[in-house]
Amino acid sequence: MFRLSAVRASHFLPSLILLLAGLAAAYVRDLSVFFTSLFNVLPTLVLLLGGAYCAVYRRQRELFLMVTVYIAYFLLDTQTDFYRDNGRVREDAAVIFHLVCLLLPALFGLYGAWQERTHLAQDLLARFAVLFAVSSVAVALEQSFPEALLGWLAEIRWPALHGQWMSLIQLAYPLFLAVFILLVVQYLREPRPLHAAQIIGLIGIFWMLPKTFILPFTLNIMCSQVMLMIAAAVSHEAYQMAFRDELTGLPGRRALNERMQRLGRNYVIAMTDVDHFKKFNDTHGHDVGDQVLRLVASRLSKVTGGGRAYRYGGEEFALVFAGKTAEECLPHLESVREMIANYAIQLRDQNSRPQDDSTGRQRRGAGANTTVSVTISIGVAERQVEHRNPDEVLKSADQALYSAKGAGRNCVMTFGQQSRRGAVRMG
Ligand code: GH3
Ligand code: MG
Ligand code: MG
Repeated sequence: MFRLSAVRASHFLPSLILLLAGLAAAYVRDLSVFFTSLFNVLPTLVLLLGGAYCAVYRRQRELFLMVTVYIAYFLLDTQTDFYRDNGRVREDAAVIFHLVCLLLPALFGLYGAWQERTHLAQDLLARFAVLFAVSSVAVALEQSFPEALLGWLAEIRWPALHGQWMSLIQLAYPLFLAVFILLVVQYLREPRPLHAAQIIGLIGIFWMLPKTFILPFTLNIMCSQVMLMIAAAVSHEAYQMAFRDELTGLPGRRALNERMQRLGRNYVIAMTDVDHFKKFNDTHGHDVGDQVLRLVASRLSKVTGGGRAYRYGGEEFALVFAGKTAEECLPHLESVREMIANYAIQLRDQNSRPQDDSTGRQRRGAGANTTVSVTISIGVAERQVEHRNPDEVLKSADQALYSAKGAGRNCVMTFGQQSRRGAVRMG
């Protein structure tokens, strides 16, 4: 249920930086005119830019998260402006503030956990309808029964659990906790930058609310930061889509092309290909094939000697060693090849049965303890005087890979080796 292996600190990093920057900025006293003017327009600016960005990427979930934060900002900003100008709070300050303390986390959690539907217009309409309904009910209650509503909101329901430190209404705390748990569970089930940004964003909101009237510009700064976290997560995910391979989590072909533009004078490219993988798929099914590709990728990504793994396409991977010679890389390639060959892969899918005996040879054991193994072949090429261009080096590595296949597979072959008759298997 939880995909702990996909949890990454990098998912949280941009949001954490924004959160810390927001905290630091909120505590700065005696701001210059430049910064006070900036903070006054910042939330609106971020909403417009971030909203446009979400619209371009058709990310309505993120758009509504931003709009929710902005509405809360707008409502509270009216109050803090009045407070700053008059030295006292407006009459409706308490009820508005308490309502925001409830509705902001509730809507943030709702939109944060509400996965996009495929139909764009329907999805937008449904999200808008919820926002409209909630706002209408809140406004109607606030206008018709302000006293009763305030009494209900501010009531201390659980005196035993009430702490002196609680500066928000009591009801807000279990709500924040529930939304926090919801967002953490969502992240653990589907670890991705947006889900991480939502958790940090909620923490930012939780920190901000009690300080709204105490620290000037806390509201403007933290609301902007939370909206920026969402926008940053959208661009992080867009970047991942372009440069990461979804199945294996390795950087993909586009990332490899980019890396190849920036290689120095010495480098080595190794092309690796899983042996008889078509047969493996035919025997165990495509899902097991995918599972095995993920495992091979994870082993390759841990190659020693400073190598970086990329999914080139299909069951082919490229390893790039910058600043190295082929000779230096060979022991590392040998050890990764050996590690994969010796790895007994436990099959998760126990229903996968070989379709016939001849193709079922790769299986060892049976039933719940089914293990399989695969081997890889590797072709290596380094930059040489006659191969200055990374594309040429890659082609040479591919040729070496072809000879590794010819030499019986499960081996490493260096470019140039194949021209000698009877190239030796290095495995
Ligand atoms: P060789 O030892 O010569 O490399 O044999 P092979 O069967 O591995 O060679 P080939 O390149 O013809 O087959 C590649 C197969 O890899 C074809 C396809 O079924 C499988 N494949 C490619 N991409 C994926 C993928 O993303 N998932 C799975 N499960 N299989 C894939
Ligand atoms: Mg292939
Ligand atoms: Mg293959």
